Amino acid sequence: MAATLQAIDYSILQQCMHCGMCLPTCPTYDATKRERNSPRGRIALMRAIADGGLDVSETFADEMSYCLGCLACQTSCPAGVNYAELFETARSHIEQTAVQPGAMRKVWRAITLKGLFMHPRALRLAGRVLRIYQRTGADVLSRRFGLTALLPASLRRLEPQTPAMGRAFSPALVAPHERPKGRANYRVALLTGCIQDLAFADINRDTADVLLANGCAVTTPPVQPCCGSLHAHNGERELARVLARRLIDLIPPGDFDAIITNAGGCGSHLRHYAPLLEDDATYRDRAHEWDHKVRDVHEWLMQIGCRAPLASPFDAPTPVTYHDSCHLVHGQKISTPPRALLRLVPGVTLVDLPESTWCCGSAGVYAVTQPDQADALLRRKVSHVTATGVAVVATANPGCHLQIARGLRDGGHAIRVTHPVSLLAQAYRLERASASAQGTP
Ligand code: SF4
Ligand code: SF4
Repeated sequence: MAATLQAIDYSILQQCMHCGMCLPTCPTYDATKRERNSPRGRIALMRAIADGGLDVSETFADEMSYCLGCLACQTSCPAGVNYAELFETARSHIEQTAVQPGAMRKVWRAITLKGLFMHPRALRLAGRVLRIYQRTGADVLSRRFGLTALLPASLRRLEPQTPAMGRAFSPALVAPHERPKGRANYRVALLTGCIQDLAFADINRDTADVLLANGCAVTTPPVQPCCGSLHAHNGERELARVLARRLIDLIPPGDFDAIITNAGGCGSHLRHYAPLLEDDATYRDRAHEWDHKVRDVHEWLMQIGCRAPLASPFDAPTPVTYHDSCHLVHGQKISTPPRALLRLVPGVTLVDLPESTWCCGSAGVYAVTQPDQADALLRRKVSHVTATGVAVVATANPGCHLQIARGLRDGGHAIRVTHPVSLLAQAYRLERASASAQGTP
């Protein structure tokens, strides 16, 4: 993978034939109707930079920051433009030219991308501190007494949106090695993620339970490095390469039938370690094997023939809708398996969500860098969810989960947000409880 637009395989830039089929699917073009805010416009800018006709400027950096990286354009493009590669290369090029000013931006990137998200133990320590801050009510007091006014404007705005830390992190809920009752048909490794681990470790527990119920022996290393998705999307390609090597060392792909991820954003990046490490002779072959083994949890469960649970997590038939995470549907082309799994859960009535593949505005750090556009997309998503009349919305990415839950909460809507595997896990647990109450083994 190239680090600058001048070094990129030029044929990728030439793929765009300017047809405009992607324009109606692009949320930023939809918002402004300006060519430069469209995929076609951005690709033209990138090509001009690659040709040497344009310098990387602050205006170009702003344009690439306005792009969500949602990859809806990639799905709709008849020419198969690899926008993911273009997007990551453009952002990497921007970071190398340092055209974006702001000391705070540098400090913030140093703390997060170069600090916390490079060191999983430090990230968990920060998570613990945040949990104490939230559980003691110090967050509410800080807001009431105006202490949050001391934060920089972007962080001040973001502070109330900080995800609630889970009651425990993954190692407290998932053992390093777990075996199914009866024969293990598959050996899988479970990736616990970063935000998923801090805010939704219970979803990792649910994922392990569903895998166990379907004959998988599950290995879950207690301390896992970040997958590097956040780094690659934000122009830190070298750090993404370091993290990819660490993860391959920790979870040798040859030891497993599948490497499971339950987060759409991580999965989209995790499946592309081979191009990231193509010039690394030590890791190249293992990176190819890694990409071959990575599976989104829904995809894997459908591949091995997921068993329908016998119990329902609901007392009565319940309408449930599904929001597609951009990087699951556009980045990985996975849309049928999560819906098929939801249909397996007794009591679920699946309701179509209009514009289910339209970005909710989460998009990594987009709420920090582009808060107005992020909020506009969230309002649009919430209005569609509420119009369905459902009681539950399922989605498979922690960013979308947090964003939609915030939008529903702020709007006063009592609609629960969950992960598809959590509904399955609940159903299997009730099935087990009912079987043991009846004395069935
Ligand atoms: S990634 Fe999303 S926001 Fe960016 S150009 Fe493509 S469709 Fe538009
Ligand atoms: S759909 Fe593809 S080929 Fe057509 S303008 Fe958009 S990116 Fe270019």
